[in-house]
Amino acid sequence: MTSLHDIIVIGGGPAGCAVALSFLKSHPNGSIIVLSDADPERFKIGESLPPEAARLLGYFDASLPAALSAHLPCAGTASAWTNASLEEHDAIMNPFGHGWHLDRAHFDEKLRAAASGAGAKFSRARVTAVRRDNDQWIVESDVGSAVTGRWLVDASGRRAGVARLLGLRTRKLDDLLSVYALFSSTSGITDDHDTRTLIEACPLGWWYSALLPSKQRLVAFHCDASSAKGAVRTRTGFLDLLHDQTEHLARIVRGHEYDLSAADSATPAGPQTTAACSTQLEGWQTQLYFVPVGDAALSFDPLSSQGMMTALEMGCILGTELAANVKQLDGFSDERVIVQRVTERYAQVWARFEKSRRYYYSVQSRFEGEFWASRRV
Ligand SMILES: Cc1cc2nc3c(=O)[nH]c(=O)nc-3n(C[C@H](O)[C@H](O)[C@H](O)COP(=O)(O)OP(=O)(O)OC[C@H]3O[C@@H](n4cnc5c(N)ncnc54)[C@H](O)[C@@H]3O)c2cc1C
Repeated sequence: MTSLHDIIVIGGGPAGCAVALSFLKSHPNGSIIVLSDADPERFKIGESLPPEAARLLGYFDASLPAALSAHLPCAGTASAWTNASLEEHDAIMNPFGHGWHLDRAHFDEKLRAAASGAGAKFSRARVTAVRRDNDQWIVESDVGSAVTGRWLVDASGRRAGVARLLGLRTRKLDDLLSVYALFSSTSGITDDHDTRTLIEACPLGWWYSALLPSKQRLVAFHCDASSAKGAVRTRTGFLDLLHDQTEHLARIVRGHEYDLSAADSATPAGPQTTAACSTQLEGWQTQLYFVPVGDAALSFDPLSSQGMMTALEMGCILGTELAANVKQLDGFSDERVIVQRVTERYAQVWARFEKSRRYYYSVQSRFEGEFWASRRV
C-alpha cells in the first residue's frame, strides 16, 4: 500500500487533468494521483474545441495555448438545420477568435503532460475496484499495489465506471447513439481545405463532419440507438445512408473523392458506435469524500459542443475547492460544503443545457418523426 494521497483522480481526460492542474495551482505541495488507462495512440472522438478554451488552458499552464498550433484552426460552423441551405457562422465574428479541430488523443496527452509537470503523479492503470475503509479511499487497479487517498474523484468519462463500481447509476435523457467513421481521399491528394464544422439534419437524426489535423475527415451520424441496429453500422450501410440522407455532406464526400480510411493503429476499421446520450449521475452525494466530474457527472448531447469546455471548467472549479478543503481553509474544511457547492453548480449547468437542447431541437421543423418529436418536449 502506498502513502495516503490528498486526492485520487480516476481518468486522465480533460476533467481529470483540469482537477489536477487547478488543485496544484492552489496547493502546490498537495498530493494528487491520477490513474488513467487512456491510450494516446488510439483515435478518440470529440475533436471540436471552442475558442473560449484557450484562456482556461493558459490559466492551467502557459504553454498549453501555444501547443494548440499542432491542431487545425476551425473557421466556424456551417449548418443545414432550420433550412436545407447552409447557415454559416464564421469564427471571425467571434470575440474569442477561432476554435480548433483537435487530434484529440494528442491533446489529452498534452494535458496529462502538463498536469504531470505541475506535480501530479500519474499511473497508467485501469481501476478495477474502489472501497472506503478507515476514513480513506482504497483504489485497486490492474497495475501495482492499491492506492489510498482522502478524496476520490470520478473523472472516468461518460460511463462513470467508478461510480458504477460504487453501485451508483446515471439517468439518461435520451438514447442518442453516434455512428462515426474516418474518411481519407482516395486520390491521395488532399484538396479539402474546408475547416468549418458541418452540421446537417436528416429525417432520422443529424450528421456532423470535421476535417482533422491528420487530413482525414470525421463523419458522424447521430440517431436513436433503436434506429441504428442494422445496416448503418456496416461500411456499405453507413455510406448508403450518408448519400441518401444528406446533401451537403454527400457533396463534400463525392467532391473530394473520400472513402472510409483503411484501418491502422490510430484509425478504427469501418464505422464505430459510441453512446452520445445526455446523462446525469444520480445519488453520488450519499458517498463521503467522493465527487464525480466531467462526463462522469454530466454528459451532453454532442450537438451542444460543450463537453470538453464544461469538463475543463468543472474540473477547474472542483480542483480549487478541493485544495481549499485539503488546506482546511475557513468555509471549505467541511466536506459537505464542497459537495453542496458542487451539486448546486452542476444543477445550474444541467438546467442551462436542457433549455438550449430543447430550443435547438425545436427550431428544426423540416423533419418530423420520433427522433425529432421526442426531443422537442
Ligand atoms: C460522438 C461524440 C462527439 C463529441 N464531440 C465533441 C466535440 O466536438 N467537442 C467537445 O467539446 N466535446 C465533444 N464530445 C464530448 C467530449 O468528448 C467529452 O465531454 C469529454 O471528453 C469529457 O471529458 P472527461 O475528462 O470527463 O472524460 P473522457 O474524455 O472520456 O476521459 C475519461 C478518461 O478516463 C479513463 N478511464 C475510464 N475508466 C477508467 C478506469 N476504470 N480506470 C482508469 N481510467 C479510466 C479513460 O481512459 C479516459 O481517458 C463528444 C462526445 C461524443 C460521444
